[in-house]
Amino acid sequence: MKYNFISNRVNSIKPSPTIAVTTKARELKAAGKDVIGLGAGEPDFDTPEHIKKSAIKAIEMGKTKYTAVDGIPELKEAICKKFLRDNKIIFDINEISVGAGGKQVLFNALLATVNKGDEVIIPAPYWVSYPDMVVIAEGIPVILDTSIESDFKVSPDQLRKAITEKTKWIIINSPSNPTGSCYSVDELKNIGKILDEFPHVGFISDDIYEKIVYDDFKFSTLATIIPQHKERILTVNGVSKAYSMTGWRIGYAGASKEIIKAMAKIQSQSTTNPSSISQYAALSALQGEEEFIFKNNQIFKKRRDLITDIINDSYGLSVSQTSGAFYLFPSCAELIGSKTKSGVILSDDSAFCEYLIEEAGVAVVPGIAFGKKDYFRISYATSDELLSEAGKRIKIACNKLS
Ligand code: PLP
Repeated sequence: MKYNFISNRVNSIKPSPTIAVTTKARELKAAGKDVIGLGAGEPDFDTPEHIKKSAIKAIEMGKTKYTAVDGIPELKEAICKKFLRDNKIIFDINEISVGAGGKQVLFNALLATVNKGDEVIIPAPYWVSYPDMVVIAEGIPVILDTSIESDFKVSPDQLRKAITEKTKWIIINSPSNPTGSCYSVDELKNIGKILDEFPHVGFISDDIYEKIVYDDFKFSTLATIIPQHKERILTVNGVSKAYSMTGWRIGYAGASKEIIKAMAKIQSQSTTNPSSISQYAALSALQGEEEFIFKNNQIFKKRRDLITDIINDSYGLSVSQTSGAFYLFPSCAELIGSKTKSGVILSDDSAFCEYLIEEAGVAVVPGIAFGKKDYFRISYATSDELLSEAGKRIKIACNKLS
């Protein structure tokens, strides 16, 4: 008899497609192909010096042992202060959980709250990991399609129609990965009313791109706008994106004591605590000056404008500008069904992205990975030179299609 060691759980999920694209670009580069990767979801800036120094100091001071499971008290306090200062949300330190990145925090939150068959509403296009995390927790992802007409934002009526007695969470991600769309205060207010109407439902608000916003957009979040429902809102954030600390792996959540305790229980049986050294680095990030974030955003904004212009000037592509994160989500719908010089028909957005890698040496992620076909995601968190070269190549490759 043949042994099958792999669980049905693993067979029911897929590997992260964004990581797959980045890996493919890396492999092609290693094999000598000239590939520009616009797939990665991380800033190309280095972690600021003062943060690195705090980590070195932590090592020198012997802060190299296990810590409290869901974060050292100093870091939790700094997170409470951050929530108060930036979002006017009052959290006690036992309402805070720190994990190895926003990803682990979300994973813990879903495992800690979702029962078999519970539904989690996820507006599409979505960050690739949400549906698979829900599946791992034996829940049912309920995908709500959104369109360019609403800037890929979900409406309260759409939510009302999708809610059943099994709905546990609605996930809102603003600024969004992959579209860069941001919910305004009024939009959040309207969506927030859902909690008045459905007492068994909560929101997970993924605010990881909070500080990466442009065009004077004023970020806000559900727990700020509907504080009366704070107990049913889990707010996720982290240092990965704004502080260029993706490799340090620190994310955090603010939620009810009950949920935070359940999340700690899960973490205590998996990774124990996030890296002690990274926690001290994150502490310094949250307590330090943030002028560099403003400067980085100015650089991102210039890049966003540059790549938007090139895309809108390319045959068959179009994109509307959004005010957050470092992604563009252009439509390639007009190119679906077109023919390459070698006679291949581009049957969908994945075929189009394959074509871009082969023909232009540019790696981007197909929209279907985010639950939205006929689109693709460009990350503009790369140098101006590489970005304009990639844009040029995309334009030439599109012009060759018929
Ligand atoms: N949420 C969103 C929307 C993201 O794009 C990411 C990273 O790409 C995360 C959460 C997780 O971030 P990290 O685990 O690197 O802190």
